[in-house]
Amino acid sequence: MTREPIEFIDLKAQRRHLGDRIDHAVTRVLNEGRYILGPEVGQLEAALAEFCGAKHAISCGNGTDALALILMAEGVRPGQAIMVPSFTFCATAEVVAWLGAVPIFIDVAPDTYNMDPVSLESGIATARHLGLRPVGVIPVDLFGQPADYDQLLPVAEAEGLWVLADAAQSFGATYKGRSVGTFGMATSTSFFPAKPLGCYGDGGAIFTDDEKLPDILRSLRVHGSGTDKYDNVRIGMNGRLDTIQAAILIEKLKIFPGEIAARNRIATRYNEGLGDIVRVPVVAEGSTSVWAQYTIELDRRDEAAAALKQDGVPTAIYYPRPLHRQTAYQRYPSAKAGLAVSDAIAARVLSLPMHPYLDEDVQDYIIGSLRRFVTGK
Ligand SMILES: *Cc1c(COP(=O)(O)O)cnc(C)c1O
Repeated sequence: MTREPIEFIDLKAQRRHLGDRIDHAVTRVLNEGRYILGPEVGQLEAALAEFCGAKHAISCGNGTDALALILMAEGVRPGQAIMVPSFTFCATAEVVAWLGAVPIFIDVAPDTYNMDPVSLESGIATARHLGLRPVGVIPVDLFGQPADYDQLLPVAEAEGLWVLADAAQSFGATYKGRSVGTFGMATSTSFFPAKPLGCYGDGGAIFTDDEKLPDILRSLRVHGSGTDKYDNVRIGMNGRLDTIQAAILIEKLKIFPGEIAARNRIATRYNEGLGDIVRVPVVAEGSTSVWAQYTIELDRRDEAAAALKQDGVPTAIYYPRPLHRQTAYQRYPSAKAGLAVSDAIAARVLSLPMHPYLDEDVQDYIIGSLRRFVTGK
């Protein structure tokens, strides 16, 4: 059988679905000529805030800058410690190190892969033991599912720490009826093209209900500007979202609810097709996921990936190495109780093609390929 190559994330199919709406939006920005902080940036921020129910949305250059801007606004500095999961993308810890503070690696729960509240307590104790001042926690909503905020927030609060939700993978998901973007002191997200809500370049946003943070964040993203751009009242960065990307995101946000529904239909079909032969993803009761990744766990993971590749099925490993095992990060401390889950799952996880435009016959082919590998028939 000849078929189109299977895409891991099919952005071309989304582009076909969008028709010429993006072209018109981009052309409008080109004709208006307001490439930096044009009107679309504010329009997008209002639409994003309304979408998730946060009081304020502040767009920025990417998901890493979103994290960094919040840490800068909080005045994070050397001597301080911030709790981050080890099983995440490096940016979560990287921004802590940028500011001279110390990331403390926390283990994740074996079911959801999100930050484990017991390990969080251990990590806070570890930080104090090392003579550092723990100030904050950055839970990650891994693979599109919110972290367990009802468990994590009280631990942080009891210790006097703020919580910054790294929602780079989960914008659009819900936790106990509330949308991602409304938990903790602030939330960061990313619009990198492959994220559930992606633009056609780099982009990011911050959400908060705090009344003071938005002005500080808006100043920090324009070099710490005060009343005008040659009045600099703090050390900031160039961290703005391009007007063109904002215009693209306004269009993509309109189809996002339908895409989230499609991602969930596809995840359910994978669960049904694979649940008897591999460990399929667990979404906690009361949570919804936007399926940034559909990640299974199985024995002989690398052989499985090779067999799927032979069949023309692309896969990816998120993440082959937890941060505490990586060259740049291994010198930072881990929660004293250890990171056994992060170490164990790194050898067993495999992410399958997942995007809203995955046809049923292509998905059946993927399921069939994996079943042949696991069952030998
Ligand atoms: C993608 C991602 C980021 C960084 O976002 P960029 O827009 O690529 O800078 C941060 N944290 C997590 C968990 C991510 O997946």
